[in-house]
Amino acid sequence: MVAKNLPTVPSGDPGALAKAANGAIQRINRPEITDPARVNPIVLLYCPDGALSLDEKGIAISYKLCKGCGICAKESEGIAMVPEYTGPKGVF
Ligand code: SF4
Repeated sequence: MVAKNLPTVPSGDPGALAKAANGAIQRINRPEITDPARVNPIVLLYCPDGALSLDEKGIAISYKLCKGCGICAKESEGIAMVPEYTGPKGVF
């Protein structure tokens, strides 16, 4: 796995890119950990908004900070992007 042109540290203002002017989260898809055993811990360093952390259970995702860019799912197995909303109004 080779990272190209990716930030190696979170941004200085975690979550700033996830919020719109009205405070709503701007995210079409969100990451979900589908197989914790296959998640590469180095992916913590790739998240540009500092939404990933490591605790005693493994990798944790803060959905308050995540903007849904998909870098983590691209760079690590065991993480998949899923639609933010699926329901009677459609998938978005
Ligand atoms: S999709 Fe992944 S890399 Fe992007 S902000 Fe969310 S947790 Fe971070």
